[in-house]
Amino acid sequence: MAHAGFEPVETGEFDAVVIGAGLAGLYMLYRLRELGLATIVFETGDGVGGTWYWNRYPGARCDSPSLFYSYSFSPELLQEWSWSSRYPTQAEILSYINHVADRFDLRRDIRFNARVTTAAYDDARRRWVVETERGDRVSAKYCIAAVGCLSAGQAPKIPGLESFRGEWYHTGAWPHEPVELRGKRIGVVGTGSSGVQVIPTVAPLASHLYVFQRTANFSIPARNAPRNEQVERETKAHYAELWKAIRMTKGGLLAPPATAKALDVSEEERQRVYEERWAAGGSGFAGAFTDLLTDTAANDTAADFVRSKIRATVADPVVAEALCPKDHPLGTKRLVLDTDYFETYNRPNVTLVDVRKAPIQEITPTGIRTADAEYELDMIIFATGYNAMTGPLLSIDIRGQGGVQLREKWQAGPRTYLGVSIAGFPNLFTITGPGSPSVLTNMVVAIEQHVEWVADCIDYLEEHHIAAIEPDVAAEDAWVEHVNEKANATLYPLANSWYMGANIPGKPRVFMPYVGGLDVYTVTCNEIAAEGYRGFALTTG
Ligand code: NAP
Repeated sequence: MAHAGFEPVETGEFDAVVIGAGLAGLYMLYRLRELGLATIVFETGDGVGGTWYWNRYPGARCDSPSLFYSYSFSPELLQEWSWSSRYPTQAEILSYINHVADRFDLRRDIRFNARVTTAAYDDARRRWVVETERGDRVSAKYCIAAVGCLSAGQAPKIPGLESFRGEWYHTGAWPHEPVELRGKRIGVVGTGSSGVQVIPTVAPLASHLYVFQRTANFSIPARNAPRNEQVERETKAHYAELWKAIRMTKGGLLAPPATAKALDVSEEERQRVYEERWAAGGSGFAGAFTDLLTDTAANDTAADFVRSKIRATVADPVVAEALCPKDHPLGTKRLVLDTDYFETYNRPNVTLVDVRKAPIQEITPTGIRTADAEYELDMIIFATGYNAMTGPLLSIDIRGQGGVQLREKWQAGPRTYLGVSIAGFPNLFTITGPGSPSVLTNMVVAIEQHVEWVADCIDYLEEHHIAAIEPDVAAEDAWVEHVNEKANATLYPLANSWYMGANIPGKPRVFMPYVGGLDVYTVTCNEIAAEGYRGFALTTG
């Protein structure tokens, strides 16, 4: 049987099947090959890159500094690659990922244009049977979901969209062909990390830009800059120690650690620290004091500081006020980094539309109609986010022992042990799954930690002739409780964020990532492994 591209479909038996060829899937493949396991990777796209393959929207760039938004597993790779700026663009990250795929000859085990539809555990054979949309059907002892945390894009279901005569795009599924923005009346819906990057990039090209804002967001200047050769040289000379240090940070990034509580220092000292972090740029701002994410009064001081910066930047006081976030503590929604975001509202061709005050009612053939006005548009860009963390996993029909569906098991929210394994789903591993630090960290660092832990686990299973591993329900319950306890000790649950599932109508309100820090989490994972996989049932035979 052949699919449309005349590439034969896969029907064989493998040791491992990996779903996804983004940063996680590629490294997983690399590690499984090192173990000598026959591995196949299925990827929806027609190229590698995952997030960075899909997110080609204007202005797309990563918020983690490029020198550390890299794999660390190969010292040679670290030395030979050079990034052109402090924060890497989407295009540059995608060429890096392509370079990695070529350099390590990964492509030969990847099947592209192969969206996985089902993954079902065959109890009798103790194997995963994985099927794709194009007709592949393979079985494997291990199944590793490397599907990403932010890969299930969500365009809101606004009535009338199908009648719109202009063009519309979601940032997470941007076309591969060039999109002409020049001279168009463009509407951007959404002011999260994606919207805040699109808006300043599109504004100089559009004849007019309308920004449809539902929730004002905290944003910190990224202070992007061209590559600094001296910093690069010094980093490359000390990469080994720096990576070691990074893995033992809370968030997988090197930022000057906070030493004091915000309210324990004088007003002058607080301002000095905030100014210093504001000038440095980057997400380190949220780490200015130790208690910003646990104490509302402390958080207010940081939030007030950012609001004062917005008011000082935006010329029109009414627009400035509308741009000041007031309904959630700073950092409880993903802190946004920007380049000239607030400045963009001083342009005469940019209008902020407050859709909290006057909600979007429908999309008409010629634009967007809110409760109090109609906006004529040639293009709508939905920067409206993702069904995060659980969405990509649940878009696949995953069935564990006894045919139990993951969708059923997670009806009230995700339940995992360490975010990497699920009771009732033997030999299934979820890279950066819900219940792990993942999206609260520099993703590449979290990915490497998970992939290495999973590879070591599989190595152990093979060496000890173990047929299946799965967490005990009690261990999973305890982990879920621990994840919740950690989150509830912070201000995170106060925001209607995608971390909480709040952006998806009907999604259970559960804080999904593990907030205890990558450092603590890594130590826990390593201890569990060292104790012969405490909390897991290992079946021989
Ligand atoms: P997001 O953070 O979920 O933001 C979505 C935006 O769309 C929010 O402003 C949301 O408003 C708005 N929205 C959603 N539905 C709407 C509706 N029906 N009407 C009006 N507004 C609506 O999504 P994102 O910006 O794509 O970012 C998602 C995550 O991806 C980020 O938090 C980050 O982790 C990652 N990311 C990172 C980068 C980077 O590194 N620079 C760039 C892009 C994305 P509400 O707030 O009211 O829901």
